[in-house]
Amino acid sequence: MIIRPSLSVFQMDGSVGPMRVLVTGGSGLVGRAIERVVKTESGEREGEEWVFLSSKEANLLSAEETRAAFEKHRPTHVIHLAAMVGGLFRNMRQNLDFWRNNVHINDNVLQAAHEFGVVKVVSCLSTCIFPDKTTYPIDETMIHNGPPHESNFGYAYAKRMIDVQNRAYFQQYGVQYTAVIPTNVFGPHDNFNIEDGHVLPGLIHKTYLAKKEGKPLHVWGSGRALRQFIYSLDLARLFLWVLREYDEVEPIILSVGEEDELTVKDAVDAVVEGFGFKGEVIYDTSKSDGQIKKTANNAKLRKYLPDFKFTPFKQGDQHKRCSI
Ligand code: GDP
Repeated sequence: MIIRPSLSVFQMDGSVGPMRVLVTGGSGLVGRAIERVVKTESGEREGEEWVFLSSKEANLLSAEETRAAFEKHRPTHVIHLAAMVGGLFRNMRQNLDFWRNNVHINDNVLQAAHEFGVVKVVSCLSTCIFPDKTTYPIDETMIHNGPPHESNFGYAYAKRMIDVQNRAYFQQYGVQYTAVIPTNVFGPHDNFNIEDGHVLPGLIHKTYLAKKEGKPLHVWGSGRALRQFIYSLDLARLFLWVLREYDEVEPIILSVGEEDELTVKDAVDAVVEGFGFKGEVIYDTSKSDGQIKKTANNAKLRKYLPDFKFTPFKQGDQHKRCSI
């Protein structure tokens, strides 16, 4: 059953009504960045209401709790960020959990959105879902062209299914459920857990401890892997644009240019410099490099937003260090 929200975007007389945006994963790295941008930069535009839902408020693994959250907030739009996430090494340990949890969360959120008459959903994918064996640069048309890297196949296939589901919702119901594909995100409120987190927060935490304890810094892998990093506040600004302006069902890559790709060693050097760490840096090549590169092409984004300015990596990095 479709329950139409009491407030809808297009009223019967053709006028535009309030837009109520529900952000799942509202207390995470990207959710907090969106909240900050909404409150400090673009402002809650007149007629827009924002709800940032955290896992404490609703367990989205449960269809019932998901429906209850939609019943309570009655969103017209959804930014769907909630997911089981983690860095390379957590993915390698828990492919089954990443697959199952994310499939359940995504199906619960998209189906609740449909049942409650949400007009637009923007979900979050990642460039790590692209095929492992591919030509470069990677673009939006290549998501399903081959198996993902073996290290994170659980997460990758679960996220690819969002794109499948979005197309199916459009085909059967004509609704505009779409997705964005960011590269490696970093910024304030990241997960600094060394074992489970991503490379930048992991390196920041490890460098902090190595400096404090006068010990070497252990980097995992060779340092040769290439990554494109996007600052969370830039990603938040782009999410708002996608929510308000982008009208395709096909996903869009949100990334800095190919020329801004860095090696993990470049990232290590920036963190070491930022901390003024003078100790030994050891590259542990017994640990995985993961996908050696996943260079993404941002031509589609540039076609829409040729003038968007990304925060330079070192500037974002300094901001991040100040915030921990
Ligand atoms: P990915 O980009 O999806 O592979 O995930 P990560 O953000 O976890 O980045 C993994 C890359 O960073 C691999 O090349 C790792 O070898 C390298 N790396 C180096 N040190 C660390 C660390 O302390 N934590 C993590 N997660 N990755 C590290």
